[in-house]
Amino acid sequence: MTKSKTPIGGYSVNPYVGCPHACKYCYASFMKRFTGHTEEWGTFMDVKDWPEIKNPKKYAGQKVIIGTVTDGYNPLEETYKNTRRLLEELKDSGADILICTKSDLVLRDLDLLKEINENSRLTVSWSINTLDEEFKDDMDAAVSIERRLAAMKEVYAAGIRTICFISPVFPGITDIEAIIDRTKDQCDLVWLENLNLRGGFKADIMKYISDKHPDLVPLYDEIYNKKNRSYFEALEKKAEELAKKYDCRFVDNETPYERVEKGHPTIVNYFYHEEVRGTANSGKRNVIHKP
Ligand code: SF4
Repeated sequence: MTKSKTPIGGYSVNPYVGCPHACKYCYASFMKRFTGHTEEWGTFMDVKDWPEIKNPKKYAGQKVIIGTVTDGYNPLEETYKNTRRLLEELKDSGADILICTKSDLVLRDLDLLKEINENSRLTVSWSINTLDEEFKDDMDAAVSIERRLAAMKEVYAAGIRTICFISPVFPGITDIEAIIDRTKDQCDLVWLENLNLRGGFKADIMKYISDKHPDLVPLYDEIYNKKNRSYFEALEKKAEELAKKYDCRFVDNETPYERVEKGHPTIVNYFYHEEVRGTANSGKRNVIHKP
């Protein structure tokens, strides 16, 4: 458990080091430096071991995020069951548990999740930044978008809070309206996060854009070399309009814990969230927009 640096605060816990999903834009790839691994990101994984959490109640009321620098439901979880073990240890903790994944392996543990949901807060988030399987295949080795959507639907139907995490939003490629339209009846929250090109993967993504979407090169140059924010500012406005259209709340950098009426997920704007300062859930851009 480490104190989380994400805008939603709390603790991060990662049952593995490395991630076979191998996303081309993975912010966690910097982890390599601290692990001694020299292999390419996505081609190695260490299976962690830990002493049993003796006093899980100390996390009562705390946010615990599973999967900030690995996907706890990566394919090898089927064999090693570390995420399941962690959830069993936290089952009665009273923590506010958030599972972030790109997989449907989470369905294996649905009974356990339902049990946790009875006594603790539990949320499962799926990253979905496209409905185009070809683009998805270009970007990650996780299961198809259709399988993620089906898993979200089943978990939502089981009474567990779900998030459609539209992240990272690729300028000119990610269609937030189509994704919200497709998921609004099976999630409580929609999170929006911009693509942030930091570190080693910037060159790879820029090359991908130039090879596959040459028409977008000037836009990416504006955003990622000249630091022009107008694209994401316009998208923020569009998200606000979509919130009005679907009668949803629209908030900045906040994670309200609530189940919402079906079809009206709360839309959360995390664009440029790395600039947010302040308390766990109320950064400087923390303004509530009413539909
Ligand atoms: S699933 Fe998450 S942790 Fe795994 S490679 Fe993709 S972005 Fe990184």
